[in-house]
Amino acid sequence: MTTLSFDSLNPATGGIVGSHPNQGPDAVHEAVGRADEAAVWWAGLGHGERRRRLLDYKAVVTRHLRELAALVHEETGKPVGDATLEIVLAITHIDWAARNAQKVLGRRRVNTGMIGLNLAATLEYLPLGVVAVIGPWNYPVFTPMGSIAYALAAGNAVVFKPSELTPGVGVRLAELFTEAVPEHPVFQTVTGLGETGAALAGDPRVRKVAFTGSTATAKRVMAACAENLTPIVAECGGKDAFIVDADADVARAADACLWGAMSNAGQTCVGVERVYVVDAVYESFMRELSDRVAKVRAGEDYGPITMPGQVDIIKRHIDDAAKSGKVVTGGPGSVRAPYVDPVIVEDVPEDSPAVREETFGPTITVRRTRDAQEALQLANASAYGLGGTVFSKNVRRAMELARMMRSGMTAINSVISFAGVPALPFGGVGDSGFGRIHGADGLREFARPKAISRQR
Ligand code: NAP
Repeated sequence: MTTLSFDSLNPATGGIVGSHPNQGPDAVHEAVGRADEAAVWWAGLGHGERRRRLLDYKAVVTRHLRELAALVHEETGKPVGDATLEIVLAITHIDWAARNAQKVLGRRRVNTGMIGLNLAATLEYLPLGVVAVIGPWNYPVFTPMGSIAYALAAGNAVVFKPSELTPGVGVRLAELFTEAVPEHPVFQTVTGLGETGAALAGDPRVRKVAFTGSTATAKRVMAACAENLTPIVAECGGKDAFIVDADADVARAADACLWGAMSNAGQTCVGVERVYVVDAVYESFMRELSDRVAKVRAGEDYGPITMPGQVDIIKRHIDDAAKSGKVVTGGPGSVRAPYVDPVIVEDVPEDSPAVREETFGPTITVRRTRDAQEALQLANASAYGLGGTVFSKNVRRAMELARMMRSGMTAINSVISFAGVPALPFGGVGDSGFGRIHGADGLREFARPKAISRQR
């Protein structure tokens, strides 16, 4: 039997953070109906007024930064500082989307390229209508806002389904929007488990689904969308590689690797999970990394594993890696649910689950390679292709490796830096999904090109 409400829990304490309605198909369809009407009004406001309203929304979210960070901390367990950082990044995206929508999507004249025909032409990108945003729990503000802000700036109404683990902050984001836009329900949240997301994705009035979550769920969402030919942008999991070339600054590389692998307890789609180090600097890099990892404390430097079931996956990967490889730090005893201490394992076979599957925990595998070419080959052997990193002092060489890396984004001499940058498109290839959020591509993802030609 469907429950009427559900509780969100603090993963560190097990305490109840909030209670939320489990909205079934009827409630979801009502929300989409309201959004469908609001979308007409919002689209009619035009770029200038929408920009003003979105900047108002940015101001409201900024005013509520502490409250939102406290809620993210409660629902995910992550430290308040990390929660604050993700909200600040989300605010940056609201600002960029608001300020750039007209430039990217507005009407412009086009040189038709037709010889001998006296044709004038314009191109503009019009709103789609209702956009459904389905989000994960690991960055419950930053990640969905990377779709929500761009969809709203492009002139669409949004119905947002947050993860069942982080419904409170999702509800709050939409409530705050009504302070900037009180007239119509342009941005609503629906909460629930099981049926809610599927009902939203399957509603024929939804013109686009922006999904962020696991690859397995993306396939189910696509199946629901297929019924109405609803297009989808799919931001899925990752298994990012981190390459350290022979001329890398190993101390800087170790700093970056530590942060990329352990922050948010490794629960980051573009977190570092596979490390490939060229033979010449292997020993020195491992020394630097081990020294740093030894000082990291689960529960202080990062929070608990938010989703209880994820602990089992992390444990399976660690157990398997410890059997087939050589443990450098931690090991099977590192799992103290809901916390997991840092784990580093060397020489794990490339076909083992810890190297092939997304772990989503503070664990990495490290492999010594002959040269950067071999590192790249191994990095590219993954089914995933979201982000990645190259460390090298030779910029030309690093650029070459970055371009050849089979990923949507690559950072050189830093880690994950592409994710917070609003002007850069974010998304992956292969099992990491398709379509792009953020930047000009992210705005166009939520609009339809409209071409008009006129015979003069
Ligand atoms: P998930 O289990 O796939 O869930 C994502 C969302 O989909 C949740 O809101 C979930 O709702 C909903 N959902 C589940 N089944 C559905 C269905 N049949 N139809 C429609 N919606 C449905 O992912 P997660 O565990 O929340 O997040 C972790 C994953 O997200 C990791 O794989 C991570 O790499 C990925 N991620 C990717 C990015 C990126 O930008 N590429 C960013 C962050 C995270 P319920 O609450 O009901 O389950």
